Amino acid sequence: MPVKAHDGPKSPEVTMGGKHMLAISDNCTGCQLCQIACSWVKFQEFNPVVAFIDIQPDDAQEGRWDARFTADCDACGYCSFFCHYDAIELTRLRVPTRS
Ligand code: SF4
Ligand code: SF4
Repeated sequence: MPVKAHDGPKSPEVTMGGKHMLAISDNCTGCQLCQIACSWVKFQEFNPVVAFIDIQPDDAQEGRWDARFTADCDACGYCSFFCHYDAIELTRLRVPTRS
């Protein structure tokens, strides 16, 4: 059973498998495309609730959204290709080479 996105700890940053993901809430419009993409790639369904990125309205600031990755996010990067507002940044980390 998938874990609900709203359960457990969440973070605006995830680093795993040579990738770094950064959620930039200031740019987020709450469109939920990232959640649709994540639920599709992880569970083959279109269901924002099961996505490993959580998008919530910011109660302290009207019109602002809070974007955070759940503990299950593996930094695969798939969601970043569907965010059209520069609110998800994917960085491929340099792999150290032997000299
Ligand atoms: S992070 Fe991007 S894709 Fe996801 S809800 Fe915000 S603006 Fe939309
Ligand atoms: S990086 Fe991958 S696992 Fe994490 S929220 Fe995006 S699509 Fe889901």
